[in-house]
Amino acid sequence: MELIGFQRSLASIEAADLTAGVVVADRHVQIRKAMATDHSDKKHQFDVWHLSKSIKKKILAIKPKKLLNEVKPWIPSICNHIWYCSRQAEGDPDKLEETWRSLLFHISNRHTFPGKIVTQCGHPPLSPDDIRKKKWLNQDRQANSTGHTSARSFLPHRSIGNISLHDAEILS
Ligand SMILES: [Zn+2]
Repeated sequence: MELIGFQRSLASIEAADLTAGVVVADRHVQIRKAMATDHSDKKHQFDVWHLSKSIKKKILAIKPKKLLNEVKPWIPSICNHIWYCSRQAEGDPDKLEETWRSLLFHISNRHTFPGKIVTQCGHPPLSPDDIRKKKWLNQDRQANSTGHTSARSFLPHRSIGNISLHDAEILS
């Protein structure tokens, strides 16, 4: 159904002599396939709301349960971070990706990190009380400059690369 609606919408845009350079849609498998094969000249970006929803679903499916219980309290922060990334990127895909990856450090209680564009979190300094209250992940691996390895396994970096940068305009 989604695919038919998508194709009809695109056809009516083109019939009106308009050109679609970027298509913002959800991550529906058939639409992704159609974009890759029939519309490879257009850029496919993922709608932030759908992406946030799908990441939440992915996190809730984490196994083992022990890891899920560690990650669960971070779900609202992770979903907020997706919106934050879209806004912060200002249309720059590299900034988008680095902002997204900063999450890996933040959730391990590291707020400055290596990067070309993004080298620190955007939040104000945390008070000792803030630090004590948070359930930081994997603090024993803080020295690892590549970030939290368990978090890497559940955060979909490839999808984030295609996040819609246009929501920034809608939100501001
Ligand atoms: Zn931080």
